[in-house]
Amino acid sequence: MARVHFFGGTSLWHYKPALGRQVKGKVLYIKVSQKNYVKRLFITLIAGWFLLVLNPAAAQSSNDIGLTQAERDYLKAKKVVRVCVDPDRLPFDGVDEDRQHTGLSKDYFDIFSRMLGVEMVVPEVQDWNDLISKAKSRECDVVSQINASEKRKSFLDFTTPYFYLPLAVVTRYDRIFVEESLEGAGTQFAVIKGDIAIDKLRNRYPSIVLVEVKNNIQAMELVYDGKVFGYIGAQGAVAFAIQSLNLNKLAVTGSLPLRYELSVATRNDEPLLGSAFEKAILHLDPKEGQSIRDKWIAITIEKVADYTLLWLTLLVLGTVLVVSLYWNHYLAQANRKIRDTLNDLHNVQAQLKDQNRMFKRQSITDALTGIYNRLKLDEDLSYAVKRSERTKSEFSIILLDIDNFKQVNDRFGHLVGDELLKAFSSLLVSAIRKSDIVGRWGGEEFLIICPDTDLQGCGKLAEQLRKRIAEHEFPGKKVLNASLGVAVHQQEEKTDIMIARVDKALYRAKKLGRNRVETG
Ligand code: GH3
Ligand code: MG
Ligand code: MG
Repeated sequence: MARVHFFGGTSLWHYKPALGRQVKGKVLYIKVSQKNYVKRLFITLIAGWFLLVLNPAAAQSSNDIGLTQAERDYLKAKKVVRVCVDPDRLPFDGVDEDRQHTGLSKDYFDIFSRMLGVEMVVPEVQDWNDLISKAKSRECDVVSQINASEKRKSFLDFTTPYFYLPLAVVTRYDRIFVEESLEGAGTQFAVIKGDIAIDKLRNRYPSIVLVEVKNNIQAMELVYDGKVFGYIGAQGAVAFAIQSLNLNKLAVTGSLPLRYELSVATRNDEPLLGSAFEKAILHLDPKEGQSIRDKWIAITIEKVADYTLLWLTLLVLGTVLVVSLYWNHYLAQANRKIRDTLNDLHNVQAQLKDQNRMFKRQSITDALTGIYNRLKLDEDLSYAVKRSERTKSEFSIILLDIDNFKQVNDRFGHLVGDELLKAFSSLLVSAIRKSDIVGRWGGEEFLIICPDTDLQGCGKLAEQLRKRIAEHEFPGKKVLNASLGVAVHQQEEKTDIMIARVDKALYRAKKLGRNRVETG
């Protein structure tokens, strides 16, 4: 588990509160470089001057707190007071990287320094044990924050406490702490070795089982691993450590009716120092005390703001995730729509193809008889001409006209005439070869194209047709005759010339009495 250095190495050092005072309701923060002492001194002086001007209470001097002449003389002669500070107990007490006093007690000592008119210096102290031994050997005149105890009274005088801190219990967050568990149940609690709280706890709960550990990190490890039920320490400090270590399985689950009562301790061989500090503490402005606490709690929150950043990051990531999920969903929907539209398009395309086929068929089909129309016959005739030129093969045509069809219409009406035309077409289709092409040339005229057929062959076919027509019984027992002209394609002959020739032959057949075949 990583060791925690409260505040150490963080940018918070660069934003130390200047004298911890409020200026017109705002805490004044001054950026201080660690390296640039001259600049720092200058800024402090300017800030001090401002504070004096803006806040007359800051000008409180030793005269205001009722010091006796003896005390004043003593302090005047003393000039510098050596204050020993626990280096590792932030946010309450601490020493920064420049070995300067920091923490909540520092703000109080700035006030004491002003009230008593003495300069405070901080001798180097390794740890709490070193501090106690230095206090004993008089290397410290004052200890900044300490609980009074009988043992310590042999070498220190204690002022009235100026700062109180309840004892709190840290357990795993899912445990329930009850005060009864401190007494006799064998439940183990971790405490920091040498902590003044130990005596207070043993006095109040004589059968309490305490496991003494080196520091709060070790204590919380034991709680985390389930080796002890809880850890008892100073309320603000343990909550701060839990947040700093990000031990989300631990929580402050109880507080005890006991508290650290932190006094200033002074060397007991110089009682005037003790009485002077006592007066300073009695003259502390409660509002000022509150603002010091608020400020250090505010800094604690600032430190915890790292997690706010984490949550913010998670929130942003979450938002990105939600947006991308939505976007995916949107894209999937859009894809589905595109697929549907494409399907529709394919369907429409297929329909169009069908329709085209239909139109094409319609365009080459005679509406009444269902056989090829004039348009198709023209195309096929041109094709036959080209083919015969290419293959040097002969082809012939028959132009056929129903005889006296007008009379049929006149006698039986157009509808009957139509029915007869349909039946006539069917007869023609059934009578010719598959390779032959038959279509309606117009009215009651029909054209038959016979590929690879010479004039003689075609004449034969025409005669067969004529006979078949004449012998056929049409609907309504009608009998029809037809005249036929036959022509074979001459070399390099255009279609219209060929048609004119066959027409001529047909005309001759009519002229020669109808119901006959003439070749052109
Ligand atoms: P011819 O032997 O000289 O060919 O005599 P015809 O009466 O057949 O010839 P004409 O050219 O005098 O008349 C052709 C008739 O064919 C006129 C018309 O009533 C009929 N006809 C042409 N097309 C159609 C049709 O689509 N339906 C019906 N019912 N009659 C048609
Ligand atoms: Mg005709
Ligand atoms: Mg006719």
